[in-house]
This record gives sequence, structure tokens and C-alpha cells, in this order.
Amino acid sequence: MATKMEFKAESKRLLEMMINSIYTHREIFLRELISNASDAIDKMYYKALTDESLNFDQDSYYIKVTPDKENRTLKITDTGIGMTKEELENNLGIIAKSGSLAFKKETELKDGHDIIGQFGVGFYSAFMVAETVTVISKALESDTAYKWESEGTEGYTIEPWEKAETGTEIILKIKENTEDEQFDDYLEEYRLKNIIKKYSDFIRYPIKMDVSGQRPKEDNEEELEEYTEEQTVNSMVPIWRKNKSELTTEDYEKFYSEKHYGFDKPLKHIHLSVDGTLRYNAILFIPENMPYDYYTKEFEKGLELYSSGVLIMNKCSDLLPDYFSFVKGMVDSEDLSLNISREMLQQDRQLKMIAKNIKNKIKSELQKLLKDDREKYEKFFESFGRQVKYGVYSDFGSNKEDLQDLLLFHSSKEKQLVTLEEYISRMPEDQKYIYYASGDSIDRIDKLPQTEMVSDKGYEILYFTEDIDEFAIRMLVTYKEKEFKSVSSGDLGIEEEKRDESEEDVKESKEIFDHMKQVLSEKVKDVRVSKRLKNHPVCLASEGEVTIEMEKILQAMPD
Ligand code: ADP
Ligand code: MG
Repeated sequence: MATKMEFKAESKRLLEMMINSIYTHREIFLRELISNASDAIDKMYYKALTDESLNFDQDSYYIKVTPDKENRTLKITDTGIGMTKEELENNLGIIAKSGSLAFKKETELKDGHDIIGQFGVGFYSAFMVAETVTVISKALESDTAYKWESEGTEGYTIEPWEKAETGTEIILKIKENTEDEQFDDYLEEYRLKNIIKKYSDFIRYPIKMDVSGQRPKEDNEEELEEYTEEQTVNSMVPIWRKNKSELTTEDYEKFYSEKHYGFDKPLKHIHLSVDGTLRYNAILFIPENMPYDYYTKEFEKGLELYSSGVLIMNKCSDLLPDYFSFVKGMVDSEDLSLNISREMLQQDRQLKMIAKNIKNKIKSELQKLLKDDREKYEKFFESFGRQVKYGVYSDFGSNKEDLQDLLLFHSSKEKQLVTLEEYISRMPEDQKYIYYASGDSIDRIDKLPQTEMVSDKGYEILYFTEDIDEFAIRMLVTYKEKEFKSVSSGDLGIEEEKRDESEEDVKESKEIFDHMKQVLSEKVKDVRVSKRLKNHPVCLASEGEVTIEMEKILQAMPD
């Protein structure tokens, strides 16, 4: 019979490998430790739900971050549930063992407060910045506290310790700077505050720090005094978890500027709270102005992605289609399956669903804006209309159907911006096509000889002044069963008056035309009599799929 053997691992190497390969940013060690502290407080909260002898008094639960430059230590304290000796051994002594995941399963937590931990590796990220990690913990309902200590390589030690209150204290002995790596930063108050704000701003419990500085003395304003006071660094309740009815436009604008989404004011905000098979909260903004770097390589589209209030990704580009790349904002979901570093997503099914949802919502909100506030919409279109056209051009399938109603074009009538719907609705009965004319500017299009006949018939003409216009329209082919037609196309589909021509005339023109064709040889395919002209002697027309304007653009494109 074969003997069953267990795999052995060189734990020291494994730990090193893991720590250095899964995380791309060192600074996330703080996110991980704070998330663990928050989980530990959550567990107290759950215990209190079922245990009447416990009383969960919100005020006595907090996390505290204390740097000590002299001793090169960083301490993270929590008043959470703590760990027994066994728990210290099992949860911190076994890599990839998650006490939090077990807790979630045990208590069958489904919704509401969301415990973050699940992989059982986050804790070890502390070794990215610390040479020694010390954990002093006292579990709820335990008389003894214990100290767990490790240098990350040769295992750990455990011994009884003194600690009065329930909870955990994690002390990191921060590494010395090396030639190419800076660790001092993690002892700086401002840097720590930044990291907390960045990743853990919406942890539900206060994250406190002793903040020191100088201020004018109370009795003598001329003199400065040193002071140290305890401050709560995080905002705790994210605006997206608040009820829409409690929030004002100013609140959203404040969030927009605090988050540095833009220097302008948002033209519109969209607050989504989706519950059901797909659960997420999102706050999206349509900026008023195009970001200054919008058409540069530096511009990155994307939304911030949070998982249960913890920042996972700064710019999740999969959440926005390219044509809505100007949208700013964030998404928070409890249902994301994250990969082990919690920097990426394990599988993107939920993300795809959220993205689709968001895309549709942006579309319908824009449609609403167009209907309810034309002026604002035109402002939006001025900044981002090009993107919408690009969307029509590039987005196959059903989407162009929705996007087509977001289009605006200048028109020969009243020289105003019109929607395709408006164009169609006032078409004379005998008009078969939607006519358009392409040119560099409205003025130049006005002077095009090709527009004459269509205008004379009293038909409206859409003015295409941007390169993308005609390409986008080509993708649509029709709007409400009406085909688009360029005024420079050979057949305009307009009944032309019959003019009598004597044989003499025909013969004469044939001679002239043949001569013209010879002179223009390569440049034109044919020279014909046109009946569409009134005030102009001659005009260009095209046959086939590509119009003259499109040909110009295509020729100007680099190969
Ligand atoms: P995860 O959080 O994904 O479970 P970690 O490696 O971050 O994995 O933590 C491992 C386990 O250690 C946690 O599941 C939890 O049981 C325990 N733990 C870590 N930090 C604390 C803390 N501050 N208080 C109580 N338990 C903790
Ligand atoms: Mg964790």
C-alpha cells in the first residue's frame, strides 16, 4: 500500500514569494490591517446582535493608528473581538487561513454589514514594510491576553501578555531605508493620513490618529503653541450609502471636488442604489467641461471601484464604454469576487453586468436631460457630442438604437440644433430621405451648390461639420425607416422637372462634356447635365457608397 505523504513547504520562502508577488503597492499593508480591525469590530457587532449580555455602544469602537518615529514603530489598535491563543496560532500562524471567512460561514451572514476578509493573506502584507510584527490581543470572554511575534521568516513566538481591554494591537517595526527603498514614509503622519483616506475612507468605524501641529495661543494670539489632538481621519459614511432624499446638489458637488474628479462643477450627477440579484451603489458625474487632458495619451477613463467601502481600483476602465469615457465617479459593490491581492477581480461576470447597467443608466439619464433641459443638454453635447457620435459609429448591436436619439445636428431650418426625431416629425409628406450636407463649416455648407435643389423643395438639410458625422450616420443607415442621403449623391430621389431638349442642344452639350472629361481626365468619372442647379453653373456629385466628403477624410488619414 502506498503511503500518503503531506506536502511540505519552505514557509519562509513561500511567505517571501507571496508577499512580494501579490501586491503591487506596498502602502496597501495599512488597508489590509485596517480592514482586519474593522472586521474584528464587525464581529463584536454580530455577537451583540445575538447575545443580550453584550451591548454594542458605537462610541467605544474605533481603530487607532499611531506612528512613533523614535522607535520606528507603527501601531494599529482596535477595540474589536480580539483573538485567543488558538486563534492567534490558527489565523496568523497558518497562511491562507481566514478566521473571517469561517466567521461569515458560521453566522451565515448574507447582507448588511460586510466583513472584508476572506483569503487569509492580507495580514502578511505587513512584512512588506516591517521587519518584526507584534500582535497583542485579548479575546472577548478571555482573561488572558497573548503576544504573538514574528520576523516573518523563522516562524513566530507566543506568550501570555498584559492587556486590559478586549481587542488587538498590532505593532510594526518599520524596516530601515535601503538604497532603493524608502520606508520612513510609513512613519509620517501626513503620509499615513493619505493612505487611510485613499483606501479606507469609508470604513464604518472611526480611524483615529493623534495629529500634532502649531496654533496660536488662546490667551495670546501672537504666540504659537504646540498641540496634539486626536482626530478621526476617515469619513466613515460614504455618501453613496446615504439616502438620495437626504442629499442636496451641493453635497454631490462637494464630493465631486473632494474626489478631484474635475475642476469644474458637474453638469449632472446620477446616484444609483441597485438592489436585487445585482447589488451595487454608484455615483456618476457628467462633467460640464471636457477635461483638459481628454484628448491626450495621459487621459485614462474609468470609475473608482470599491468593494464594501474599501477602494480596490482607482480607474476601473471596464466599467465604462469608450464613448462614455468622460463620465467620472465610483461604484461600490459587496458582490465582487476579488482576486487574492484584492487589487483585481477574479471573474468579471458581475462587473460586466454592472457595466451594462451603468451604460444603460447613463443613456437614459441623457435622454431625460435632452427632454427636460434642452439648454443643459446642448451644453453637454457641445463638450461631448463627438463621443456620442463615436458611440453610434463604434457600438454595434442594439446600442446605436438608443444612442441615435442622443444625436444633435445643425440644420438648414432656423440654424438650430435638431434631433433626428425632430427632423422626421416635420418632414413634408413627399420627402423620402433625410438629407444631409457635409462641409467644414455651416457657412460653407450654406454656399454649396448641391444644397440648392433640396432647399428649393422646402426640405430640411442636416449640416455635418465634423469628420465623424457622416461615418456615424452610415452606421445607422436609416432612422425610423428613412434613409439618409447626401445632397451630393448622384440620385437625390427628387422628381426632377422634365425639360425639353432639342437634339441640337444634346449634341452641343455632348461636345462640351466630352471636352471637359478629356481635360479633367483622371479627376472625374463623368460630366453630365444636372437639373438640380439654379444659381450655380456646376457642382460635384458622387456615386456609390463613399461621398466626396468622406473620400477627403479617408485620404487625409495616415495609412
Ligand atoms: P483575511 O482578513 O482575508 O481573513 P488576514 O490574513 O488579513 O486574512 O487575516 C487572517 C485572520 O486573522 C482573519 O481572518 C482574522 O480571523 C484574524 N485577524 C487578523 N487581524 C485581526 C484583528 N485585528 N482582530 C481580530 N482578528 C484578526
Ligand atoms: Mg484581512
